[in-house]
Amino acid sequence: MHRIGILTSGGDAPGMNAAVRAVVRAALIEGYQVFGIFEGYKGLLEDDIMQLERYFVSETINRGGTKLRTARLPEFKDVEVQKKAVEILEKHNIDYLVAIGGDGTYRGALGLTKLGFKCICLPGTIDNDVQSTDYTIGFDTALNTIIEAVDKIRDTSSSHQRCSLVEVMGRNCGDLAVQAGIASGAELIISSERVMTDEMIISSLIEDKLSGKRHEIVIVSEHLTDVHELAKKIEKEVGIEARATVLGHIQRGGAPSAFDRVLASRMGIAAVDAIRKNSPSVAVGIIHNEITCTPLEEAITKPRIADLKLYSDAQRLK
Ligand code: ADP
Repeated sequence: MHRIGILTSGGDAPGMNAAVRAVVRAALIEGYQVFGIFEGYKGLLEDDIMQLERYFVSETINRGGTKLRTARLPEFKDVEVQKKAVEILEKHNIDYLVAIGGDGTYRGALGLTKLGFKCICLPGTIDNDVQSTDYTIGFDTALNTIIEAVDKIRDTSSSHQRCSLVEVMGRNCGDLAVQAGIASGAELIISSERVMTDEMIISSLIEDKLSGKRHEIVIVSEHLTDVHELAKKIEKEVGIEARATVLGHIQRGGAPSAFDRVLASRMGIAAVDAIRKNSPSVAVGIIHNEITCTPLEEAITKPRIADLKLYSDAQRLK
């Protein structure tokens, strides 16, 4: 009989609760025991561990955030700290760890794997930047939150004939920016895959203005430029009113979308199936709508980036 530890780590994402729920329910049916580890690797080191029963995950499928809470623990890169984590897991006779998070969480799990402890990773991050899956849990919800916000910004932007800059999350992967850009009919999309200097943005806006465009939506991934400063430059150099909105943490919150709930449920079940087969450490993903298990080491060789074709598609719809 397996004893499974489960944690959520790194940035929270809508649908993490649905994934925990699926693991708990599917595992209990198999006769396994499940132990919730609160606040990610930090809680693991503090031995903040509680056996989970079916009721713990009741009424959580529709809840954003993570009931197991999450934390960041930079020291987890240290192999001595990882050895301590394995000791604590072994003390509880836990033989598998299900870790739900992004790339950083996967690296932590790889550290435990190298010490001989088996981990099953589920991609829980709004950024969609995990290489071993087409979609991460939380991405779809965040995308919908963004387009809802951009639709509202567009109403006021077009009434005032303004340029609206909207900064979205997704540091290394431009999926949030490019897909939100297509879905909200943005004029320009700037992300790490398609970086534009402020000068390039300004000349594109001048060109649009000359062609008769009366308002502009520009979607920008975080950490590429200071959108408030850029808005000032646009006012001065393009001669149109410009405003910047940083969507920030609103993108992480809210009830998970139907897509994320179903994805999280399918992935949680797949994690228990992998454990039933005594799988080595793997990362669960979805590729071409098939649930997949990729050896953990392969899953984190490089971060996933957005499909470049989407940027040319967006350009053709401008
Ligand atoms: P995410 O999992 O969303 O990418 P982070 O990058 O913050 O979020 O990682 C979550 C946690 O995973 C970190 O706080 C740390 O405890 C652990 N972690 C991150 N990178 C590594 C690494 N290279 N080696 C071991 N553990 C790591």
